[in-house]
Amino acid sequence: TDGEAGTAGADDGGMSENPYAGLVSRLRAAWLSRRTRPLEYRVAQLEALGRFLEEKKQDILEATALDMRKPPFEAEFSEVLLCKNELNEALNNLSRWMKDKHVDKNLATQLDSAFIRKDPYGVVLIIGPWNYPIYLLLVPLIGAIAAGNCVIIKPSELTKNSEKLIEEVLPKYLDKDCFAVVTAGVEETTRLLENKFDYIFFTGSPSVGRIIMTAAAKHLTPVTLELGGKNPCYVSDTCDVQNVARRVVWGRFFNAGQTCIAPEYVLCSVEMQEKLIPALREAITEFYGSEPRNSPDFGRIVGDKQFRRVQALLSSGRVAIGGQTDEKERYIAPTVLVDVKPSDPAMQEEIFGPILIIITVANIDEAIDFINSRERPLVVYAFSSNSKEVNQVLERTSSGGFCGNDTLMHVTLTSLPFGGIALLTPSCALREGGPNSSALAHKTNPLVGCT
Ligand code: NAD
Repeated sequence: TDGEAGTAGADDGGMSENPYAGLVSRLRAAWLSRRTRPLEYRVAQLEALGRFLEEKKQDILEATALDMRKPPFEAEFSEVLLCKNELNEALNNLSRWMKDKHVDKNLATQLDSAFIRKDPYGVVLIIGPWNYPIYLLLVPLIGAIAAGNCVIIKPSELTKNSEKLIEEVLPKYLDKDCFAVVTAGVEETTRLLENKFDYIFFTGSPSVGRIIMTAAAKHLTPVTLELGGKNPCYVSDTCDVQNVARRVVWGRFFNAGQTCIAPEYVLCSVEMQEKLIPALREAITEFYGSEPRNSPDFGRIVGDKQFRRVQALLSSGRVAIGGQTDEKERYIAPTVLVDVKPSDPAMQEEIFGPILIIITVANIDEAIDFINSRERPLVVYAFSSNSKEVNQVLERTSSGGFCGNDTLMHVTLTSLPFGGIALLTPSCALREGGPNSSALAHKTNPLVGCT
């Protein structure tokens, strides 16, 4: 290691050809010593993580601003407050989660005791993306600590300032024998993945998700893959158009559109599209001013490669709002595209940038058929002043999350699970729909309460 507590570079310590083997076996030895198991230990580590969030809040805001000009309000909300929520949830419930769950018995076992014990996996690898470089590392870390695991955290190499903060500062708060940070690009991560982990929690793109799953399969290591998606948003003719516009603009352009659960495209009637376009323009101006480029509340695309990819998608359909770009600043204006065909590039891949598409449909049935003809999304959104319509969309589509008459808000509830319709995560879906706000949950955090 480079000598920093719990921070690890490529280190074989002469023990093996794999540069990370020494680190993994050091953590495995710590895990086998059972020190991460007692409630008091887990609570102490979680509280230390809480102090990191409290004492280093300003550093987090500065790092994410340098990385992608993340607006301070957005950074505080998404990178700090949502982590604190998750942390409080774990601290408030941990002793209950850790208890054995006694189960029903049959006649033959009446005198026995039958129970489910929640046991940690062991050494867990968490690999994070760049779009929420703190939140998407710390939330799985909270689950992993709460469940009594040892953890290696691998931040994204694209958000250099956040990566440096995690590498240099976070280990000062945690037990260095049980928690380590590895900073690594693709080549080093490939070597890291050659090691046997007991669980891998990956958040990122579907293409890299396949690579992670293949590497995990060699060791039969269970994985959670939190991947991308393309989230539809049905808007009924019955809606209050101003209200819908403000909520869709907030959800779509938060973090400059680089949010896996953002609404990517609206499905509505031609008549609603006519009303929605001016209302969306008004909401964009209200939130970011007439020149969003100068707004402190509007972020930037993370890198040049990502900028060029998103910019190329602007050639799909016709620009109804925005469309301006500046490569030097990696700026793409909040944009609305219309007349986009389902076969156009912007409808074929996840946009992951500040572009909203409107697709017109004849009615709710056509909207539902459109959603069901595509990959199952992370979230389905539905807006209607008639709760029956919201429930119809909820009932007749399949997705990781569902949110009626709002956007993004379901992730703020720690009482709801979060995730997609993944290949491996068991569905524990609880879908609720209603006119005022409703979210679906499908998150299983397998690092907490695993059996
Ligand atoms: P990415 O897949 O490019 O990278 C994610 C992580 O994988 C990074 O740490 C990176 O270093 C590592 N990585 C990249 N290539 C690798 C390889 N060949 N081998 C091993 N590791 C490799 O994803 P990204 O661009 O950082 O993030 C954007 C994607 O993440 C989008 O698709 C988005 O939808 C998705 N995402 C999903 C969620 C969710 O909760 N479902 C949340 C945020 C982002």
